[in-house]
Amino acid sequence: MKHQTLIQNATILSMDNQLGDMENADLLIDGQTIKAVGHQLSSSSAEVIDGTGMIVIPGLVNAHMHTWQTALRGVTSNWTILEYFANIHAGLATNFKPSDIYIATLMGALNQLNCGTTTLGDWCHNNPTPDHTDQAIQGLLESGIRSVFFHGSPKPDPKPGQKHFSEIPHPRSEVERLLKDKFQDPHALVSLGLAILGPHYSTYDVAVHDFELAREFSLIASMHCAGAAAKTPDGWERLAKDKLLGDNNNIVHGNNLTDDQLKMMIDLGVTFSLTPETEMTQGHGFPITGRLRNLGSAPSLGVDLESGVSGEMFSVARLALATQRALDNAHSKETQNQLPSTSTIYCKEALEWITIRGAQALKLDHKVGSLSVGKQADLVMIDATQLNMFPVHQAVNSVIMQTSLSNIDSVMVAGEFKKRHGKLLHPKLEEGKQMLIESGKRLLSELKNHPTHA
Ligand SMILES: [Zn+2]
Repeated sequence: MKHQTLIQNATILSMDNQLGDMENADLLIDGQTIKAVGHQLSSSSAEVIDGTGMIVIPGLVNAHMHTWQTALRGVTSNWTILEYFANIHAGLATNFKPSDIYIATLMGALNQLNCGTTTLGDWCHNNPTPDHTDQAIQGLLESGIRSVFFHGSPKPDPKPGQKHFSEIPHPRSEVERLLKDKFQDPHALVSLGLAILGPHYSTYDVAVHDFELAREFSLIASMHCAGAAAKTPDGWERLAKDKLLGDNNNIVHGNNLTDDQLKMMIDLGVTFSLTPETEMTQGHGFPITGRLRNLGSAPSLGVDLESGVSGEMFSVARLALATQRALDNAHSKETQNQLPSTSTIYCKEALEWITIRGAQALKLDHKVGSLSVGKQADLVMIDATQLNMFPVHQAVNSVIMQTSLSNIDSVMVAGEFKKRHGKLLHPKLEEGKQMLIESGKRLLSELKNHPTHA
């Protein structure tokens, strides 16, 4: 018989349209999956957990992060996108050994679990050798997080005789190797996606190659669209015309896309992952949250760079919400000479962005993103009795606006606790921290003479 867990007497924000929000409710987990959500549930064999004072939500989804930069926390925080490209992609990134990728990915993923993220879109684009790639996957596997490993390619300045990265197609042989050697099990916690250049960062021929490659293997093709001028400015229209743009495509940022382009993409099923803090800090522009909403869509959200900003998804959601409210309020004052009659976006929607919307962007919404019967038991128990959250009148508002790391009491992935009573359960935490600091020190020693290092 499978191990059963029964969480009793909690506030449950299911993010399932049928189930809704429930007070004094119970959640029964059978093995890896949610068996029942409701009131007065019972099970003779379940381990019973008292959920009094707890708010239970679906595990958060961080749809876009470059976890390989974890050892560089704080290093890029004052940099624009131009400095970031010069110092990271053409600089520090070139010194990463496979072991640096491993420890950054393991520790970055563990911190995601620590902060309530149970599903991570890990966008790994510093993998010059198969060993780098394998070590990143190893880090994800060891962490116990659910993830899509987006296999990318490095972006160094070309050496004499080498092609610029924008002219290099995504390596088919690596995709075939990974699918054969690492991603055979459809039930595994880690699955494969492609982190391609896309027309913003590649020639049209390369874009076509990479889109076709992803489609051939039924993989998500995720790509950045922001930063410096586009390499192929008319690429999106051409891809649509060539019937290559579709619902297996995910666009990160998208700040410079026109409304017509956004509409075309939304109609084709393209998803969007926004990273508000890096977008505004590095110079991409304002997040397109409101523009997507106006077109009937919604974003998923991501941390992007822990080398620059916080890894907490609640911070990301709050920042996205406040920024769009500010833009909407300013627009209303400008056009109507008054504020909107109420906030243009309610907190519930922000919680959708970091749960079910993230799951949709990663094509995992049949498994996670809501506390629905039959889905995987990926959840967070938030301790709402602490001074920073107490008293709770409207749970969803308190969760979005007041939850901090100190409230993340327990985190479960596939029915298994990864964090319990405020402590991560991973055995390698202290050893991992030591390895992470050594990795960071070695990498930064290469940057000492750079004028922007401060
Ligand atoms: Zn990114």
